Amino acid sequence: KTSSSARPTDDNSGSDTPLRRCWVGGQWRESGATFVKTSPVDGHCVAHVVEADKALIDDAVAAARRAAAGEWGRFSASQRKALLHRIADGIENRFEEFVAAEVGDTGRPVEQARILDIRRGVANFRLFADLVADASGEVYETETPDGEGALSYTISRPHGVVAIISPWNLPFLLLTWKIAPALALGNAVVVKPSEETPSSATLLCEVIAEAGMPAGGFNLIHGHGAGAAGEFLTRHPGIDAITFTGETGTGQAIMRAAAEGVRPVSFELGGKNAALVFADADLEKALDGVARSTFLNCGQVCLCTERVYVERPIFEQFVAGMKARAERMVYGGSDAVTGLGPLISHEHREKVLGYYRLALEEGATVVVGGGTPQFGDDRDGGSWVEPTVITGLPQTARCLQEEVFGPITHIAPFDTEEEAIGLANDTVYGLAAAVWTRDVSRAHRVSRRMRVGITWVNTWFQRDLRTPFGGVRLSGLGREGGRHSLDFYCQPMTICVKI
Ligand code: NAD
Repeated sequence: KTSSSARPTDDNSGSDTPLRRCWVGGQWRESGATFVKTSPVDGHCVAHVVEADKALIDDAVAAARRAAAGEWGRFSASQRKALLHRIADGIENRFEEFVAAEVGDTGRPVEQARILDIRRGVANFRLFADLVADASGEVYETETPDGEGALSYTISRPHGVVAIISPWNLPFLLLTWKIAPALALGNAVVVKPSEETPSSATLLCEVIAEAGMPAGGFNLIHGHGAGAAGEFLTRHPGIDAITFTGETGTGQAIMRAAAEGVRPVSFELGGKNAALVFADADLEKALDGVARSTFLNCGQVCLCTERVYVERPIFEQFVAGMKARAERMVYGGSDAVTGLGPLISHEHREKVLGYYRLALEEGATVVVGGGTPQFGDDRDGGSWVEPTVITGLPQTARCLQEEVFGPITHIAPFDTEEEAIGLANDTVYGLAAAVWTRDVSRAHRVSRRMRVGITWVNTWFQRDLRTPFGGVRLSGLGREGGRHSLDFYCQPMTICVKI
């Protein structure tokens, strides 16, 4: 098999290519079936990956249950805090290995992997280690008929075993965003990274084991989603809660699986995010910001901007500025801003190119891009596409309603603030918005009318990890981040003591 999305095949043993195995009950495990993970840069085989079968997932869940009821479940909050900091130290000690793993699977700019992916992964472990250690419950003096009173107080208890399912677009960042709070609160976890990005997660198993995690507290399984490892895991009756980041349609399938057993879910799903640029904005900053929010990670960030609405007096100037910035992108460049990696896979490239074609059918004007670059070398076997800016589509066009998840944005003019707000909110999604203006009152006025989980003003992707993160409508369910993660990854319990 040559496709990274291929179904399981027999292990290609004897080759030099590494084998990414599952980590179950404190041991490396195989299932007898593997699939091939290819590089999106040039299509070469990066790794063979074990495709976990039902039996292996049964073992992982059983190991997690034993750990939750055993040594790991008896760790105190301060022991868990120390463990999480040791994990963060371990990642830092092997920082460049993690960067290489992430770059190898995704082809992204090295600086981006350093700054965004791995450094933020370390920060996730440190943030939740400290948050949980400082968390406190509620205490009430409760009145009773006999006048003596009662003391009511709350404690937090872990769910037990949490399934963590993550996507390929920011593999390490999104995985650790969930693993850290789940472990900090004392859950055992069974983690399934995307089949497209098995490598940094596999490395993390070594670090977590070296940090002193008891066997079974952390388990990693590899494999595909529907009808395979992901579905087996989310349907497994031994799972107590499910946290998922990925496509909205997958979230809906997982929600159906979670209904069996009435398990709590936390979903971070798709988006179709708008940027509103007012004529009073600092134009250069707005252009740099919107270009970054369009092209970062080749447009494969759930928060990326796919719709830009620009106040009419600066529309032409803005379109020209975006064109110039698209032309400045460097294929394969290492710089976090101007470097442009490939899309994750041939399969995803087909989807994105389908939207490039659809845009033309729907009547778009292509300002820049719209196709695939030709290199005349090995990279022609990769999954590259051109950074693309389009204009001229009606708001009802599918390209303005459906998530593309590639380096493409549409720019449309608006005349009034009210019209801009209406256009931004005209979507089934509701993840993020960006407002570019120098008018402080307008910034606040418009921001609070965005139907999203987060609105940025004169910036983008600036995250304070303590704030709630998530989407409304088809963009998600629940919030994670800071104490909001603590709310999801444990259950409060009340104890009432009669005095
Ligand atoms: P995806 O939904 O295809 O896959 C995500 C994960 O779910 C993978 O590990 C996959 O194997 C697994 N999976 C697939 N089908 C499953 C099933 N039926 N049961 C259980 N598991 C299953 O998403 P993707 O293509 O990897 O990621 C891109 C999507 O993720 C985009 O829609 C993007 O907007 C979204 N995303 C959202 C956020 C957010 O915070 N809101 C962040 C990043 C990505």
